[in-house]
This record gives sequence, structure tokens and C-alpha cells, in this order.
Amino acid sequence: MTFPDLADFLHQWLRNMQADVLRYLIFSVGVWLTLWVVMARALAHRKIRPDRPPPRQMLVELLVSIRSVAIFSTFGLITFGLFRAGLLPGPYIARELGPVWFWTSLVLMIIGHDAWFYWTHRLIHDRRLFRGFHRRHHRSNNPSPFTAYSFDLGEAAINALFVPLWMITVPTQWPVVGLFVLHQIARNTLGHSGYELFPARKDGRPLLPWLTSVTHHDLHHARAGYNYGLYFTWWDQLMGTEDPTYLERFAQAARRKAIARTGPSPA
Ligand SMILES: [Zn+2]
Ligand SMILES: [Zn+2]
Repeated sequence: MTFPDLADFLHQWLRNMQADVLRYLIFSVGVWLTLWVVMARALAHRKIRPDRPPPRQMLVELLVSIRSVAIFSTFGLITFGLFRAGLLPGPYIARELGPVWFWTSLVLMIIGHDAWFYWTHRLIHDRRLFRGFHRRHHRSNNPSPFTAYSFDLGEAAINALFVPLWMITVPTQWPVVGLFVLHQIARNTLGHSGYELFPARKDGRPLLPWLTSVTHHDLHHARAGYNYGLYFTWWDQLMGTEDPTYLERFAQAARRKAIARTGPSPA
């Protein structure tokens, strides 16, 4: 790489980084301000745990998340560089496939990311990998909206790897990637927000049982070993890793009467 190329790369990297940090701040500060300050009283009955994490924890999460964003920006820029160099034909192919494929590829990308997240998440919970890859995220036993990207470097790289792998294997337009990232950060910050925001049925069960609720991921932070999924509950259900107290805890957080779980109840 010649000097002008390197200077150009660094310039682009800084621009990417600026946009990515801004997006992270808009979502994390926005969710924190909306739920923890403006609507704190109105949503008090939906608070999952009575206590809040200390401000120091949230500051560390914010700084570590910005470090993760730097990793995501680097991977994003390398992927875009491959496209500009003519080595990534997927976005052109996807454009030819029209608007139906545009929305189909977005849904598939979200489903694909959920599978990637579930299996890599289970992998880094292995005792041999946990300390190096996932300990930072679980230092936040009681999460906050700032926990969203509070990752060790290795975990940030695993998460960043999904977009290039997807772009190489599935024809996908760039605006789809933009929408995918918006959905991902929205679900991630809300999933760590500490308030159960998902609707419940009259019997206390989730109205949309195939979506992971805030309680679902909050339980993963409270006691790891269950609930590895990101957007959907189906991998945890299929692999038997759903927390046995999940539905009861969801009903409590949604302030509905707890219900008896079908099947054998945990001791
Ligand atoms: Zn975990
Ligand atoms: Zn988490």
C-alpha cells in the first residue's frame, strides 16, 4: 500500500468511524434518556430488576463499546474496499434481482445473523474461550443500554465478521446492510435496557413468543448458561437452552400473573 492509499484508507476509516460512533451514541444515549430518565416513572412497573447499575459501569461500557465500533468500522471498510476493487459482485447481482429480493434479503440477513450470533455466542461461553472473548460483556451482570457493544476485542471481531461473510455468500444491496445495522443496534440497545418493553397476552405469555424479549437477554446476564439467542427464541427452544424460568420471569416483568409452564417444572 502506497502512502496516498494509506492516507486515503485512514481518511475513510475516520469518516466511517465518526458515522458509526454517532449511530451507537444516538441509540444508546437515546434509549437511556428515553427509558431511564424521561419515562422512568411511567415505566417503573416494567422495570425488570429493582436496582440500576452504577454510573462507573455505564461509563466503562460506553468506552469499550466505542472500541468495538472501531473494529466494526474496520471490517466494514475492508468489505466496501473489496466491492470497490471489483472483488464483491453481490451488491450488483442483488440490484438486478429487484425490490422483492431487497426485502427478502433483509429478512434472511436478520435470520442469518441470529443463527451466527447464537452459535458463536455458545462457542465463546466454552470455558476455554470465555475469559479471552466474552468476559467483558458479562462483567455487566445488570446491563444498561450502553452494554450493547461492550465486548472483548475477540468478541467484537466475531460479530464484525458476519457482514463480510454474508456479503461474500449472499447477493445483498448496501442499503439492506444499512437497514440490517439499524435493526441490530435498535434490538441490541433495547435488549439491554432493563425494562420489559414487549407486549404480553392476558395470561402473561409474550404476545410474540418467537421474538426475544428484554427479559430473555436480561436473564442471560443475570445467570449465564441459558438464552443465547439475539432476535429470535427458536434456537434456544430447539437446542434446549431456554431458561426454565423465562416465561415466569417475563410474566413478572410484564406485571401479569405468573403462569404455570407446560412440561416438567424446574426444581
Ligand atoms: Zn453470554
Ligand atoms: Zn448482552
